[in-house]
Amino acid sequence: MNRNKIPDMDIPRRTLLQAAILAACIALGLPAPAAAASGPLRVVTTLPDLADVARRIGGDRVEVTSLTKGRENLHHVVARPSHLVALSRADVLVQVGLSLEMGFLPGLLENANNPKIRPGSPGFVSVSVGWSALNIPTVVSRKDGDVHPDGNPHLNLDPRGGRQIAERILAGLVAVDPEGQSAYETRAAQYRKELDAAEARWDAAAKDWSGKKIVVYHMEYDYLARRYGLEIVGTIETKPGIPPTPGHIAELVEKMKSAGSVVILTAPWSNSGEVEQIAKATGAQVVELPNQCGGIAGTDTWIGMQDLMHERLARAFGTAAPKR
Ligand SMILES: [Zn+2]
Repeated sequence: MNRNKIPDMDIPRRTLLQAAILAACIALGLPAPAAAASGPLRVVTTLPDLADVARRIGGDRVEVTSLTKGRENLHHVVARPSHLVALSRADVLVQVGLSLEMGFLPGLLENANNPKIRPGSPGFVSVSVGWSALNIPTVVSRKDGDVHPDGNPHLNLDPRGGRQIAERILAGLVAVDPEGQSAYETRAAQYRKELDAAEARWDAAAKDWSGKKIVVYHMEYDYLARRYGLEIVGTIETKPGIPPTPGHIAELVEKMKSAGSVVILTAPWSNSGEVEQIAKATGAQVVELPNQCGGIAGTDTWIGMQDLMHERLARAFGTAAPKR
């Protein structure tokens, strides 16, 4: 059983939610979902990272809303009536996939009752399609937390993730709005050029990072670690989604002491008492990194978020910052 799954709603609750959507539309002066007006494509994304890239590629042909805002633990997003309103009016939904959104999106989709964004329809876009995931478990059990049953979904934190996200969103927008194809392709080509320049400065900044040792709270930075050859000494969670026990922390502290210089990577949601406790016991530096756009100042764009990640890591490792 997945402990994050929202229980299926019964009919009276569903009716209430649909009434709430209608009430919210009226209060906001918006047309009811069934009476969607023509105009820009309404794109809803699960993460702000996907929203940024969708805006870059969609330009004025799209109007984009993100369900999460930047500081959430993405495995514990709470479904809200405003999410339902957005989904019931959407022409396109962009998710990461790899079960990242399994705790909140399936229940919302069922209740939004919008055929345009149903899984399998052109308006349902998963940016992880074609991505080869790290950490695919051989056995998934409740004991393992089950939050990464399809492998590591945090591809938005890979310095090459922007390219993957852009290509999937481009394909999705073209499929839903073929008339916009050349506009989308032109904008995507411009974005690829920006990615080329950004990836080159990140690679240059990270050229001496191979073998640097890190501890992570949650397995969010594995793609980044793989990209640059960082050594993950351990995780503060006992398993993805399972908070640490005192025994696990004691073991990790010993491991860190014998490993030598280790930097602890944490996201805003996981920058907890345990992180402080481990840092105190080992003398390790703590670096807070974003786990999605928007949660930390200067991370409104995906490229800006990666710049900030590389700057903070360069400072922690004592190497030169990327030249923006
Ligand atoms: Zn995760």
